[in-house]
Amino acid sequence: MKRQFRDDFPLLKEHSSLAYCDNAATAQKPQYVIDCVDQFCRKENAPVHRGIYTLAETATVLYERARENVRAFLNAEDISEIVFTHGATESLNTIAAGWARYNLKAGDEVVVTEMEHHANLVPWQRLEKEIGVVLKFIPITEEGDLDYAAVDTVITPRTKVVSVTGGSNVIGIDIHLDRIAKRAHEVGAVFIVDAAQSAPRSRIDVRAIGCDCLVIAPHKLMAPTGVGAFYVNKKLHETFEPLMVGGSMVLSVDWHDSIWRPVPQRLEAGTPAIAQVVGLGAAIEYINQNVDFDWVAEFEAELCRRVVDGLLPLNQVRILGPIEKLRSEGHLVSFSVEGMHSHDVAAFLDSRGIAVRAGHHCAQPLHNKLGVPNSVRASFYIYNSIEDAERLVKAMQELLGV
Ligand code: PMP
Repeated sequence: MKRQFRDDFPLLKEHSSLAYCDNAATAQKPQYVIDCVDQFCRKENAPVHRGIYTLAETATVLYERARENVRAFLNAEDISEIVFTHGATESLNTIAAGWARYNLKAGDEVVVTEMEHHANLVPWQRLEKEIGVVLKFIPITEEGDLDYAAVDTVITPRTKVVSVTGGSNVIGIDIHLDRIAKRAHEVGAVFIVDAAQSAPRSRIDVRAIGCDCLVIAPHKLMAPTGVGAFYVNKKLHETFEPLMVGGSMVLSVDWHDSIWRPVPQRLEAGTPAIAQVVGLGAAIEYINQNVDFDWVAEFEAELCRRVVDGLLPLNQVRILGPIEKLRSEGHLVSFSVEGMHSHDVAAFLDSRGIAVRAGHHCAQPLHNKLGVPNSVRASFYIYNSIEDAERLVKAMQELLGV
């Protein structure tokens, strides 16, 4: 497996001195993905699942090949278990408003963690208001790790859905899903994983995890933006209502009634993001051919270790999350700086050629719980370098006059 990735990314060649450390927001795109999308738009573009002509059949084959790539990537059993949407947020909304909305009732419990991205929190809040489900949280410890000791008590026989992140986009550590899956299965709850942050850096196996739904964020996997994908176990297909209705998802339509297609088409109303889906298929091919996930985990942890060790001596800096875990298995580092807004810190880092995220990273309640309104986040991927981590530390030393 290769290790020198930067050359594969035209944007990083264009901005040759940029340390791009905002990969938890979105990843850069390799030439291979750009070429596949370009070729599709130039030579293969046509509607899918509709045309009778050769070009439309070719487009359909390419679209469905991408679905097969996602199926194999997640180790789903059947290709019908992969649904394309327009993003991770839409996927989570589809699950909450399309499945849970119709299969839960007042008093049923939905359990999430205190680490969730808003995309895996707000859709459940809506169900709390609309149908009276009870939203409960697996807390974090004082140190900022998930409180696994609380799992068995927070999840109860009244729990019907457990929906948790696979890895936090603020506290850069992965979640031990097995501990949560075990309890979710014990009580017969539907188990949903938001793998937006974890799928780019760990080999996902939906059958080994034992989840009913799993959501990825393709643009964080080097695919284009505007496409989403999620896994939904066949056993939920019949009880799944579409979030959107209209063309493509119907078998037949009368003036007052329609019959829907089975999942996945039922959940893919309208013309899909065809070129972007093809780009997702290409991104998975690029990963399969070039990326060793064990190496990614080790490499990112090494970068986190450098950042953590470099920032720890700076008195004004507070690192969010469990320090030792971040050093050994981290994939990003978030920190706040006493007396400085994260936007000002990020602007300074930008002036030194380092791109980081500043704000609450779509996890406002988590920031409140940690006692900081916002933070700076440095998140890495395969094309980052040790030098990027060192530059970040140096720039922070410079900012704080050390
Ligand atoms: N969940 C997590 C953990 C994320 O990191 C993100 C994206 N930052 C999302 C959900 C939402 O993804 P998107 O914005 O692509 O819909």
